[in-house]
Amino acid sequence: MGVEMPAAAKKLSFLSSLGKGPGHVDIDLRDGVKNMDSDMSKSTLESEVHYCAVHPERDTGLRCNRCERYMCVDCAKRTPVGYTCRECVRGHEDRFFEGTILDYGLVAAACAVGGALTPFVMLLLGGFLILGFIVAPAIGGGAAQIALQLTGRRRGRYSGYVAAGGVLAGGIASAFLLAGGFGLFTLLYLALAASAAYARFKVSI
Ligand SMILES: [Zn+2]
Ligand SMILES: [Zn+2]
Repeated sequence: MGVEMPAAAKKLSFLSSLGKGPGHVDIDLRDGVKNMDSDMSKSTLESEVHYCAVHPERDTGLRCNRCERYMCVDCAKRTPVGYTCRECVRGHEDRFFEGTILDYGLVAAACAVGGALTPFVMLLLGGFLILGFIVAPAIGGGAAQIALQLTGRRRGRYSGYVAAGGVLAGGIASAFLLAGGFGLFTLLYLALAASAAYARFKVSI
């Protein structure tokens, strides 16, 4: 007891001899960092005010993760890898869609043949109308698949619409030639075939 008391007193006197103590040093450091931060952000604000490349009146800190241009929130498109400007998003799509005019022609022709076959096959099926709900999409999808193979699997921005249009045009022409017109079911089958053809070309980016 008599030995412990002076030891504790020595420790207390040591701490007080440091004056402010180690705790105060920590606070000083933190204040310094805080000051440095505010100095940095102040200088960033002063020297680097950026404006949207499309809207020069809007200042922004947002940059495109592809071309690094500055852009406002209206121009930014959110992608899985960050914010991208509209032009880069579109450029990305254009690179993805590499279909040519000739490809569109091939797609339209192949799908028109598929469409033309649809009322013919329905005529063969006769009374089995339910079967048409399976067969019609199969014909449309099959025609689109052939079209994809003919064009080396190249897709154009509008390939899906061209395919669906081809199926409808071929189907309507064939329905008139075959049966002298088309009924509600023929129209329904053609719609199914066309949407199956469209779906074959629809891809997610
Ligand atoms: Zn960009
Ligand atoms: Zn903008």
